[in-house]
Amino acid sequence: MSNQGALPEEPGQSSPRGALLDILTSSQRAVAELEALQFSVFAGALQHALSGSDGTAGDSAMRVRELAAEIGAAMRLPDRTVERLLGEATDLIERFPATFDAMQTGRITRQHVRVIVDAGGRLDDDARAEYESRLVEIAAVETAGRLRRVARGTAERLQPQSLDERHAMAAEQRGVFVTDLDDGMACLTAVRPATLAHGVHDRLSAMGRAVKAADPDDCRTLSQVRADLLCDLALTAVPAGHDELSVLSEIKAEVSIVVPVLTLLDQSTDAALLDGAQPVDPATARALAGAAPGWTRILTHPIAATPLAVDRYRPSKHQRRLLRALDERCRFPGCGYLARHCDLDHHHDAALGGATSTDNLSHLCRRHHMLKHHSRWTVVKQGDGVVVWTSPTKRQYPDRHYPETRGHGVRFEPPSAGGSPPPGVRAPDGKPPPAPF
Ligand SMILES: [Zn+2]
Repeated sequence: MSNQGALPEEPGQSSPRGALLDILTSSQRAVAELEALQFSVFAGALQHALSGSDGTAGDSAMRVRELAAEIGAAMRLPDRTVERLLGEATDLIERFPATFDAMQTGRITRQHVRVIVDAGGRLDDDARAEYESRLVEIAAVETAGRLRRVARGTAERLQPQSLDERHAMAAEQRGVFVTDLDDGMACLTAVRPATLAHGVHDRLSAMGRAVKAADPDDCRTLSQVRADLLCDLALTAVPAGHDELSVLSEIKAEVSIVVPVLTLLDQSTDAALLDGAQPVDPATARALAGAAPGWTRILTHPIAATPLAVDRYRPSKHQRRLLRALDERCRFPGCGYLARHCDLDHHHDAALGGATSTDNLSHLCRRHHMLKHHSRWTVVKQGDGVVVWTSPTKRQYPDRHYPETRGHGVRFEPPSAGGSPPPGVRAPDGKPPPAPF
């Protein structure tokens, strides 16, 4: 191809590419301006809720939760995320005024703002003002990635605290997190002081090398052996450093898994579902099923996958188990807390004549249980299992399930005290399923 027909490169309004760049940069500025507008609304709303001037009852924490739940339902965001955004917006506007101003006038993007706030969060007022004025200038001409390096360096230089103090604060952020991956895998991350993290890795490496030296036929890579050893240790060892009361060793890992009956019988390769969400390969599912000390049979609708009935050799717990199977998670819109970590709530209070029936009971996590009882949010359960929430401003938000997130088949659960021995698994008897709810 010759250069004929190529876009002219000189700047100017007559150039098509110039016009395109104008549109992109001006829309980028407009997005930043609108996001700044959202931030100021978030901060204003938080201030109103904290002062009680918006008519909200209850203590300040509950007023903030009520507000976050209402914004979250309207914007389709989890209310915990909204609560964090309310705090971040207020922090930005109150502590980083020059940065907020640059965002408000479209000079820097939200990504730049995040870098500036993250790296400068622990600076004192004087240092922060100097840091901000330097960083905003650079943010106007650099990518967020390059800005991050400058931001860290500048913050380090202006840092009033010693490394010891900062390490102590950073250590407060330690934790263990699980992130689901594709193909039945998940990533386990532990955030610990660098010395301990490297120490764990080093010990796993030494053990891994010893394992491989002892068995030359072991074809696993060292990295694979490390991962296998880590799980062996975490799942089976006693936590010696903490076990003063000898109770920790009694706590076993708890997961629930739904296995399609035909997969269990080795007649299908349909995936099992871990906690109603993460697919598990059939071989693993069959192995877990074989080791499960108790089980609950859940008959699911073949198309909608709605649990239709549950049987278990402890009828007194029948209702609880059916509800757990039905709800799977907290029934506040957008909440993902698993039902087994939730409270069972009577929508219509039992003390006021509300029935203890599946129509009147739902799982709510502690946070949303509190919200229901201590704020102006109200809830009713419809006959089809949909739970409808009404916000303080009288907007309605349904919480419903989708067939894609339900497993079909037999759910294996951890043993409960005094549970029955596992009965044999039988094939479906061929009778048609009962009509759906
Ligand atoms: Zn919840």
